[in-house]
Amino acid sequence: MKSVREMVALQASKLGGARLAAALKVQSVVLREAAAFLHGRGFIQLLPVMVSPITDPLNHGVADAGIDYCGSRLQLTKSMILHKQLALASPAASKIFIISPNVRLEIPERASTGRHLLEFTQIDFEMRRASAGDAMRLTEELFRHLFSSAKAACAAELAELGREVKVPCKPFAVRTTGGLKAEFGDSWEADFSASLSEPAWVLDHEREFYDREDPAAPGHYLNYDAVYPGGFGEALSGGEREFEHARIVGRMRRNKMDLRPYSAYLEAARIGMLSPSAGAGFGVERMARFLCGFERIEDVSPFAKSPGSDGFLF
Ligand code: AMP
Ligand code: MG
Repeated sequence: MKSVREMVALQASKLGGARLAAALKVQSVVLREAAAFLHGRGFIQLLPVMVSPITDPLNHGVADAGIDYCGSRLQLTKSMILHKQLALASPAASKIFIISPNVRLEIPERASTGRHLLEFTQIDFEMRRASAGDAMRLTEELFRHLFSSAKAACAAELAELGREVKVPCKPFAVRTTGGLKAEFGDSWEADFSASLSEPAWVLDHEREFYDREDPAAPGHYLNYDAVYPGGFGEALSGGEREFEHARIVGRMRRNKMDLRPYSAYLEAARIGMLSPSAGAGFGVERMARFLCGFERIEDVSPFAKSPGSDGFLF
């Protein structure tokens, strides 16, 4: 294990280096332009919720992170999904976005993916009464805008990194999880991403209770992931949402969830506070990593926290 002196020296060279400087500039353009684009489309920006009795249950190996306060247990936000659904009840908020810090205590094995951090930031949007298609079209335009803005504003930095960014065509190609499993096997994501030269959609993922099951085709889901080309893997996840009490309870039971922590959320669904909606979220650091062409997401974050690490300094 490295000494604190050695680790601080490494941190100093990272902070002083051109690679991180380029990534920070790219990331800053992504943040600025995503907000400008969404405001331009009539979205309003909400502030993030950072602690709450409930957060996204996530169906993949992430430990709960919480704090005890006056006899209550508050979870650190893993994603804003449940609060996005609730916030749409405001007449001001038919189209919302949040630049949302997420804490996910990922299993140590995820260190090897190059795209997982323990804390990261999502740009998370949701639209009342929208369909999967509406959210996918919006994402395609947003990604095209972000890629071309980064290309223009960070031309010198990207050239220095030897990275050529291609603005994708729209619509993105569309595949399904079923088709990709048949072609690439159960862990299709890496090989599929490596086979792409532009971002593509992957539809129909069986996952958390809030992504809507297709009422016309039970066992299939009205959700979508955007995948980066070049082996960079998942960029964004979204879906149409379940909003009816009975369906939410059914989905939670099927996922073998303990319903008790969600009693207030379920009561909100029961009294009709949730509306039909669709939305998505994408990781800002992952997009900066992709645009810079870095192997590891840690290289875009000045204070990166890798899964499984015990060498946190700052
Ligand atoms: P999810 O809700 O798991 O689909 O996460 C939404 C988006 O956040 C993903 O598509 C990624 O872009 C990003 N993301 C998820 N987990 C992480 C992580 N541990 N580190 C960095 N980015 C992440
Ligand atoms: Mg996802």
